[in-house]
Amino acid sequence: MSEYRGIWVYSENKELMLELLGKGSELAGKLNTQLTVPVLGHEAREHAKELAGYGAQKIVIVDSPQLREFQVEPYLSVLTQLTQQHKPELFLIGSTRRGKELAARLAARLNVGCIPDCQELDVDDQGRLLARRIVYGGNAIVTQVFRIKPQIVTIPRRRFEKAEYTETSKGEITAAENLQVEPSKTEIVEVKPIEVAETKIEEARMVVGGGRGLDKKEDFKILDELAQILGGQVGYTRPLAEDRKWFTEWVGLSGHTISPELYIACGISGVIQHVAGIRDSKIVVAINKDPEAPIMEMADYIVIGDLYEIVPALSAALRKLLAST
Ligand SMILES: Cc1cc2nc3c(=O)[nH]c(=O)nc-3n(C[C@H](O)[C@H](O)[C@H](O)COP(=O)(O)OP(=O)(O)OC[C@H]3O[C@@H](n4cnc5c(N)ncnc54)[C@H](O)[C@@H]3O)c2cc1C
Repeated sequence: MSEYRGIWVYSENKELMLELLGKGSELAGKLNTQLTVPVLGHEAREHAKELAGYGAQKIVIVDSPQLREFQVEPYLSVLTQLTQQHKPELFLIGSTRRGKELAARLAARLNVGCIPDCQELDVDDQGRLLARRIVYGGNAIVTQVFRIKPQIVTIPRRRFEKAEYTETSKGEITAAENLQVEPSKTEIVEVKPIEVAETKIEEARMVVGGGRGLDKKEDFKILDELAQILGGQVGYTRPLAEDRKWFTEWVGLSGHTISPELYIACGISGVIQHVAGIRDSKIVVAINKDPEAPIMEMADYIVIGDLYEIVPALSAALRKLLAST
């Protein structure tokens, strides 16, 4: 029997952590093993108790003032030692910017593999983990298995259902001992908030996307209005940021990957590099003058016409509808 047993999950993002707990519990059931969460921080015992309610069977607290703020080297050193001591067979890490950095560096330190951004995870009848992810800019789905353990996998937001809270669920909480917290190689000298949208585009449930079909930056006010009515956000294609310099970020293969309930693509052709970032949207609506635009192949609803007429008309109709309810 393998010396590696148990599933560990970790994310600094609370919502994603609950999704990892949900999927981790399911896999732990299939593999007949336990679900463990490491809690890194300072004075984090209350948080540990809460995680037990969400199905963590074991919680390992690593309490140190050096872990108060996320810094990659201290966190990495702790996770490396914990993994070496406890030998989980599978470690699920949230695919945030920090999580991806941690996962890749953890795998390098342990000299094992890491499968990033898994879309699906299952166990076959031999107990092997099957990890599926999108490759070639969204043109193919690959299924991968690990040859060695621990198996390190990163999981993006909204792939799996969140674990449910149960008052009676009680996990075993222990404090990790004899761990060396590696000092950070960098020092935070200042933290300054930058001007960002209230919700990150990855978190938005409704996204109105704009592309080169919009002639001027000011024209985005019609998309802003629609997004506001829907309680969502506006996203952009890359040429608007890279070539026209109107914005600083975009959606797609080289930009943000989003998974909203609704994506309304306005004046966007929908070539593969853009589609790679919106593939996980639940419903895609395309508003485009060109019935042959590639976006039509993946859209659930198609509106052929001029966005300058359709988008304001849609906003007006939605306003009317909302006013009457
Ligand atoms: C390595 C690499 C990475 C890339 N990564 C990304 C990425 O992450 N994200 C990304 O978006 N792109 C990316 N691109 C660029 C990508 O290839 C496309 O060039 C880009 O997505 C096209 O943007 P668009 O749809 O806004 O423009 P276009 O392709 O020019 O499409 C504009 C669309 O608007 C329609 N239209 C015009 N006027 C109107 C109107 N009045 N009403 C309605 N419809 C109208 C047209 O019919 C057309 O379909 C990448 C490219 C490379 C090479």
